Amino acid sequence: MAKYSLLALADFLDSLCRAINAFDLDNATLHCLYNELRRAVPRHNGDCYSILEGTDIIPAFILNNWVYLDSIEENQKNFSELSCLIKATYTNPSGIQISKEKVTELVALSDKKFSVSDKLLCHTPINILLVENTCHYANAVYSVHAKPDAVIKDLIVLTYVVDGRVAPEFAFLHEIGHMVHTRVTQKSFVAPRSFDILHSIITKYISSEPASLPREKRRKLFAEWFAECFAIAVLFKTPYSHLDRHIEISNEDKSAIEKYMSALMDTLDKNKLGNRTWEQIEKLAQIKAE
Ligand SMILES: [Zn+2]
Repeated sequence: MAKYSLLALADFLDSLCRAINAFDLDNATLHCLYNELRRAVPRHNGDCYSILEGTDIIPAFILNNWVYLDSIEENQKNFSELSCLIKATYTNPSGIQISKEKVTELVALSDKKFSVSDKLLCHTPINILLVENTCHYANAVYSVHAKPDAVIKDLIVLTYVVDGRVAPEFAFLHEIGHMVHTRVTQKSFVAPRSFDILHSIITKYISSEPASLPREKRRKLFAEWFAECFAIAVLFKTPYSHLDRHIEISNEDKSAIEKYMSALMDTLDKNKLGNRTWEQIEKLAQIKAE
């Protein structure tokens, strides 16, 4: 299927905003549009995820970023901001993109190692979008609107990857890593508390000293590293290990990272909002294994 550019969607949203003014559209019209979009989102049909391409991405992408409100002005503002967000995030494609088949293979690999689908996706399936764009500042995008104890609205946007040091397959697993920590903690860009145990390993491989960073930057840094560690753990000691960008990390450290992810994923049912410490998780994982 031909890929679709999110920049075309931004143009459509700009036209919609102009039409709202020019034809004095009322909110009832937007409510119809909202319902049509909901009907148009492809159904998961029992699957834990769907890979969307072409114009199939349009309803999924808009609904992920649009909360229907009772005021036409608020809805129009939402479209206008979404258009700006798209233009600030995406550009025309260059580099290479992961194939649909590889996405399926890597989800299967994540499931084989950590049962990701069973544990985190079966109740709330995720859409994975393949778009005809490159992201200005990242290799792929995990888009989320998370509020504690509310249903998480998230999706993964797979763009063309320009950075020759990163395989698009690794970039995809990194975004799955963001999905994992977000669904565990129910907060955007917050790693589970137990991830502290890997801080000393991570600090060995980065130039900045995390303790010296402001709190907010440190939180984001460790959320990024959680996503990296998830990708490392999935690929470690598999036929796909050549896709791991972190050749600088020793096998001993990768083994510790894999052990952490394994214990975390094995104890999710007893780790509400990711608040358990590593010591608690390790004990719970041991009891389960016995
Ligand atoms: Zn990231």
